[in-house]
Amino acid sequence: RVRVRFAPSPTGGLHLGGVRTVLYNYLFAKQHGGDFVLRIEDTDQNRYVPGAEDYIFDTLSWAGLEPDESTRKPGAFGPYRQSERKELYRQYAEQLVQKGVAYYAFDTTEELEKMRHNFKTESNPTPQYDQSIRTKMRNSLTLSAEEVDSLLQNNTPHVIRIKMPVGETVSFNDMIRGEVSFETAIVDDKVLLKADGMPTYHLAVVVDDRLMEITHAFRGEEWLPSAPVHILLWQHLFGLENMPQWAHLPLILGPSGKLSKRDGAKYGFPVFSMNWADPKSGELTEGFKEKGFLPQAFVNLLAMLGWNDGTEQELFTLEELIQRFTIEKVHKGGAKFDYEKAKWFNHEWIKRLPLSTYKQQVKDLFESKGPIIDNDQQFERILELVKDRCHLLTDFWEQASFFYQAPTALDAASVKPKWNADKAKFFQDFQQELQSLPEWTSAFIENAFKQFAATAGIKPGELQLPMRIMLVGGKFGPPVFDIAEIIGKEETIQRIQTALP
Ligand code: GLU
Repeated sequence: RVRVRFAPSPTGGLHLGGVRTVLYNYLFAKQHGGDFVLRIEDTDQNRYVPGAEDYIFDTLSWAGLEPDESTRKPGAFGPYRQSERKELYRQYAEQLVQKGVAYYAFDTTEELEKMRHNFKTESNPTPQYDQSIRTKMRNSLTLSAEEVDSLLQNNTPHVIRIKMPVGETVSFNDMIRGEVSFETAIVDDKVLLKADGMPTYHLAVVVDDRLMEITHAFRGEEWLPSAPVHILLWQHLFGLENMPQWAHLPLILGPSGKLSKRDGAKYGFPVFSMNWADPKSGELTEGFKEKGFLPQAFVNLLAMLGWNDGTEQELFTLEELIQRFTIEKVHKGGAKFDYEKAKWFNHEWIKRLPLSTYKQQVKDLFESKGPIIDNDQQFERILELVKDRCHLLTDFWEQASFFYQAPTALDAASVKPKWNADKAKFFQDFQQELQSLPEWTSAFIENAFKQFAATAGIKPGELQLPMRIMLVGGKFGPPVFDIAEIIGKEETIQRIQTALP
């Protein structure tokens, strides 16, 4: 049975890359009738951010990518939070020491600092605890058995490190990259078990992937350098039996390279606003959701960041993605994130989805700006009229606020060049005409407008723009007589009157 996992560390918000990893795992699992497991990797307690775990759940549920097993929905492989599995890892670390492929290291913080200082050279500015350096440090490879025993007996703080072999090559088959090889000389002796008894990510991820019977592990390319450590651990602990198939997903790039916070608010934002300050910037950041992205569009655009099915098709529902996705078709190279393209996806989904999917969110947005929306039917009609002009849900306010609030500024400059006394008189008198209309529908209004224009000897086309600016404030919006109908007789007359000099 296919079992995949998303294994985030609860250290902050989720960004594009994180959710894309979730999505590819999810699609693969669903396609194979398998399980999608969410495992919380919280072994680094220093980086723990309270609230981050809830945030992860909220994000996945917004995106519609619900895990089959998690801390909130335990299956047969729990606990699903690594800190609750703490006791389990030590035996594996000890087992590795016994086998001679890991060792105790007793170096104090000061000693490690000294090491970094003393071994620093121009060609090696940040020396690592590795095969060249471990022979000069205080560990069970350099100390006598008696010394080690007595240190352990006295509960001397220590860690367990992996002993990277000298002069070997570690390779594995990546589902996206094919065969990938690493020279062990370039990998340092990573800590497996920390002084506080917590495993590091490297040990925990291997043990848990095994115990949770994970069959495929798709994760970001940033983990590729750690893969040789994981492969060796798999080899030493489990003889590579049932090791998951790996796939390292390409980085998501900004227009100018690596997608990072430095790309600014435009690209580095999380999926959701975090309700805590971002640990990196210390600021509250607006996320894709608050910017007005629809989850359907978000999932669609994420899927296309690094994958396509070989056709021109770009718009996919989650169901279609489950049918069509193939991990082998994921590109090796980085995927470029283009914000304008992201907005295009959203625009397409705003047009496609029934209003009911996003009406409430737009309503909340409008009400947060002041107006009370008490006529739902009318609100829907308004959304229907303007939705083709919206790329983000937040655009609805710009495109439709004038239905609820008279414009505060009028784009007089657009009218002025052709404005004259006749036109002013037309609008002066037209108010009377509107007052006495037997029915207030856009057809009646339009008809009256045209007849009245004919009587005044002015082309109706010349009067439409001024009328629009009076009602809307600017040169945009749906048909002007629809607007008049919706805002009502009193309001229409009022706006015309206010606009006239
Ligand atoms: N805990 C790692 C992270 O935060 C998981 C990496 C993996 O999937 O192996 O991304």
